[in-house]
Amino acid sequence: MSEIKTQLVVLGAGPGGYSAAFRASDLGVDSVIVDAREALGGVCLNVGCIPSKALLHVAKVIQEAKQLSKHGVNFGEPSFDLDKIRSWKDDVVSQLTKGLSGMSKMRKVKHVQGYGKFTGANTLEVEGPDGKTTITFEHAIIAAGSDPIELPFVPKDDDRIMDSTGALEMKDIPGKMLILGGGIIGLEMGTVYQALGSKIDVVEFLDQLIPAADKDIMKMYMKTIKNKFNTMLETKVTDVESKDDGVYVTFEGKQAPAEPVRYDRVLVAVGRRPNGSLVDAEKAGVKVDERGFINVDKQLRTNVAHIFAIGDLIGQPMLAHKASHEGHVAAEVISGKKHFFDPRGIPSVAYTEPEIAWVGFTEKEAKEQGLNYEAATFPWAASGRAIASDATDGLTKLLFDKDTGRIIGGAIIGTNAGEMLGEIGLAIEMGADAEDIALTVHAHPTLNESIGLAAEIFEGSITDMP
Ligand code: FAD
Repeated sequence: MSEIKTQLVVLGAGPGGYSAAFRASDLGVDSVIVDAREALGGVCLNVGCIPSKALLHVAKVIQEAKQLSKHGVNFGEPSFDLDKIRSWKDDVVSQLTKGLSGMSKMRKVKHVQGYGKFTGANTLEVEGPDGKTTITFEHAIIAAGSDPIELPFVPKDDDRIMDSTGALEMKDIPGKMLILGGGIIGLEMGTVYQALGSKIDVVEFLDQLIPAADKDIMKMYMKTIKNKFNTMLETKVTDVESKDDGVYVTFEGKQAPAEPVRYDRVLVAVGRRPNGSLVDAEKAGVKVDERGFINVDKQLRTNVAHIFAIGDLIGQPMLAHKASHEGHVAAEVISGKKHFFDPRGIPSVAYTEPEIAWVGFTEKEAKEQGLNYEAATFPWAASGRAIASDATDGLTKLLFDKDTGRIIGGAIIGTNAGEMLGEIGLAIEMGADAEDIALTVHAHPTLNESIGLAAEIFEGSITDMP
């Protein structure tokens, strides 16, 4: 049993945890980071954001190469070397986790590998490959993230039935695959497997894929994927049965097939549950709600003044960039700064093809909250760059407060929407109004121009379309 005394212990080394530990260390706070994984980076780097984007890159290039045949360039049918695709993804992950490890050493942040649980208000016990470690701390940040939700009627001992981590392993290219849950993670993985040749069914209980996004955005998405995915909306899965020749799934609801359907693989992607209740936080006096979320104030402080919580386990949206910004604020507060986490918008991006991205208020939220807003939409079918890039399936929508003219939200669907969203996020954060955006000279021809043009539409000043 070893013992460590530290000013700050961070439990969980995901984007929230490592950002917090690094910032704290930069501010002179002696920091220890605890994670069950050997590599830093949490879900995002190891089995989330990054490996999925490496595979989505492959999918995007395949789709673009296929699309070129319409314009006279033929590459023929692609062939796949799964081992090489897997090592591309693994190399991307290890490049980044090694980088994190180097940054951690440089800052002298101690990494204790093992599973940590609170044993008191100032003590944490870690059980790891090198035995037990007791850590006595002045401050703690709980950053233990989330895990995939499991469904009770889904068999657990059949590796043809996977969660997102299993899907990222890419054991094979299944002939027919069901994505159970039409959220961002399921659709991203569906995009990858479809590009590699799998036939994909998507089942979603609600009446829309990616329920948080606006209806007009998702209507365009449904149009673009109609030849790629078979979607079953307002339909639920009631039974999943493992048989020798496949996984048989029974559906119920609006678009349910009458008989059980056989799949080679099933990806269960129905959301993530916070890990708040797995760390014995109550032994430190920290309240955890019945779902496993930990409540915090705007400084990320829990009900116990010297213990903070950040990332997926404090609530939606469960996104890496939210976690890392929260990590910075928590570390700064611990170091004595009077900072708050109070963003006007947190961007959400589905890295599907096309991409779907939004920040600030969605139109749905603006309506629900009774805001006096107006939406201005620029369809990419009128964008010179989109036409020249064969990417007209897209639109840029901005929401403005009608009283002040200030931008309060924006959504984009189309290729590279996630990259474009930054401008809208900055405009919202800086309190820009439609005139500020419309008068900003955007390069021509770019897809970004659509943001300036949407603002001009709101202003009623649009003169020409590129
Ligand atoms: P996590 O990244 O969940 O890390 C928590 C860490 O804590 C883990 O390493 C875990 O091992 C450790 N841990 C938990 N309990 C203990 C314990 N008791 N003791 C020791 N260690 C413990 N987000 C985006 O913003 N963009 C994306 O493109 C994106 N893509 C995603 C794709 C997939 C397939 C998945 C699954 C998620 C994706 N996410 C994405 C979500 C993103 O990964 C999470 O929001 C983010 O990782 C949350 O960060 P976190 O710091 O809260 O914790």
